[in-house]
Amino acid sequence: MLRSHTCGELNLTHKGHTATLSGWVQRSRDLGGMTFIDLRDRYGITQLVFNMETNAALCEEARKLGREFVIRVTGQVAERSNKNPKMPTGDIEIIVDVLEILNTFKTPPFTIEDNTDGGDELRMKYRYLDLRRNTVRDNLMLRHRMGIETRLYMNNIGFIEVETPVLIKSTPEGARDFVVPSRMNEGQFYALPQSPQTFKQLLMVAGIDKYFQIVKCFRDEDLRADRQPEFTQIDCEMSFITQDDILDTFEGLTRHLFKTVKGVETAKLPRMTYADAMRLYGNDKPDIRFGMTIVELTGMVKGHEFKVFDDAELVAGINATACAVYTRKQLDALTDFVKRPQIGAGGLIYVRYNEDGTLKSSVDKFYSEEELKKWALAFDAKPGDLMLILAGAANKTRKALSELRLEMGGQLGLRTPEVFAPLWVVDFPLLEWDEDTRRYYAMHHPFTSPKPEDIPLLDTDPGKVRANAYDLVINGVEIGGGSIRIHNKDLQKKMFTILGFTDEDAQAQFGFLMNAFEFGAPPHGGIAFGFDRMCSLFGGSDSIRDYIAFPKNNNGRDVMIDSPSPIKQEQLDELRLIVNLQGK
Ligand code: ASP
Repeated sequence: MLRSHTCGELNLTHKGHTATLSGWVQRSRDLGGMTFIDLRDRYGITQLVFNMETNAALCEEARKLGREFVIRVTGQVAERSNKNPKMPTGDIEIIVDVLEILNTFKTPPFTIEDNTDGGDELRMKYRYLDLRRNTVRDNLMLRHRMGIETRLYMNNIGFIEVETPVLIKSTPEGARDFVVPSRMNEGQFYALPQSPQTFKQLLMVAGIDKYFQIVKCFRDEDLRADRQPEFTQIDCEMSFITQDDILDTFEGLTRHLFKTVKGVETAKLPRMTYADAMRLYGNDKPDIRFGMTIVELTGMVKGHEFKVFDDAELVAGINATACAVYTRKQLDALTDFVKRPQIGAGGLIYVRYNEDGTLKSSVDKFYSEEELKKWALAFDAKPGDLMLILAGAANKTRKALSELRLEMGGQLGLRTPEVFAPLWVVDFPLLEWDEDTRRYYAMHHPFTSPKPEDIPLLDTDPGKVRANAYDLVINGVEIGGGSIRIHNKDLQKKMFTILGFTDEDAQAQFGFLMNAFEFGAPPHGGIAFGFDRMCSLFGGSDSIRDYIAFPKNNNGRDVMIDSPSPIKQEQLDELRLIVNLQGK
């Protein structure tokens, strides 16, 4: 054994013992007569001491050790005179008798400590060094715990983990596929799964009943900070269940993870309809850590010769508690915020409800204090509050108010990552109309079942049909989503027709599923959780990259192994592929 203990293990109970440790030199301090070294491994840091008086030769050798050298030492565990209560091993040090260098280290490209001087790209290139840092390693530990606890919980309630294939078939719905050429089937391609959706449904037809899988999925989309081309889902499916059964089951998983990984007890998860989420929060993933919900004023503000309100489809606002003290400058900044092109509001109207009970607005010319009082009543505003109002087309205004609400929540410190506010959003619309392509798209995916009572609307007003679809939202982040599925061939066929598939296309793409529905498909439904996102949320970070051992950068590149990369002509020939970079 190259060690008797780890660097995170020794304390005063080991005083006087002999110990052998192996690890990396994080730091060394040469105080003339003594040399101190912080030795690091995965488990922690232990202080080593070399004494010039008692062992000059060894001390000389220790002085020559560079950062990140790999060493093995043997020595006596001694009580430290200068204790460090912040470290688990802070009461002891090792008085070293034997030092062996196991490997050397070039000059580090960045400082391998909690606070590093390495920029993003550099740390990605040397990700294996970045992973030596406690903070990054702790993230992987958290991910590991989340995975283990998920498997324990699912196993306990009778789910089995089944692996589904990674080389599957390209389908046009959803995001863009990553494709893989097939050498043995000339001119044909596999696709990497965007999710195991159809396979898990087929597992239900197979009678598997309760399936889950922690699984890699792939989507060739433009990347954002919280997206990766390959990502992990906790993917689940159940048979003979209602929507309530699914919500209860996965609420259980969510609460189990909060309890075991974070030590947080969560109350029963509230359920909110999509319609209410849009009306009250302007958003289908509401952050309910705080109130400040949207109040509609449209009816009560018209007819005062204020054109902006008279022409608006929706006039609505939020009430920011105790913000009447906001200065002109702060209000201008908020106005600039809502006018940014990404938000696109025409302007911001505000009403200050002063402490003395008077009301002052940016539209005093059109509205008397009497009128403003009525608004305050609608907002349930109190003296000291500030009402912020937007007007315009309904959807756009709701979206803008959602952004403004989140901004105000942030400014008022109401969005702390230590507080978790999960909820279910239910009753999503089945379809979404796209003006550009002038067709409907499935809001969740084409296998989602309409609410039975809304099925007649499929023929008359498809946009109004609600789905048995649900999302798990935590702190304004969509963590999971799923639905009760269609399990009837005719309804599935109809759905494909509404989505613009010809019968031949539907058969070619999804014939295998529709055929399976004729062989006794049970009623079924499921959900998938974004595992990377879940880990980052539990860890209190916005970036999923921090929770992935070897992530890709914003251009979808792995800068460590330098991929993607060209392949050899022989490989292309074997696949009978011609790469045409003309016009590039
Ligand atoms: N397969 C879906 C997704 O990846 C989730 C589900 O409906 O279970 O979003």
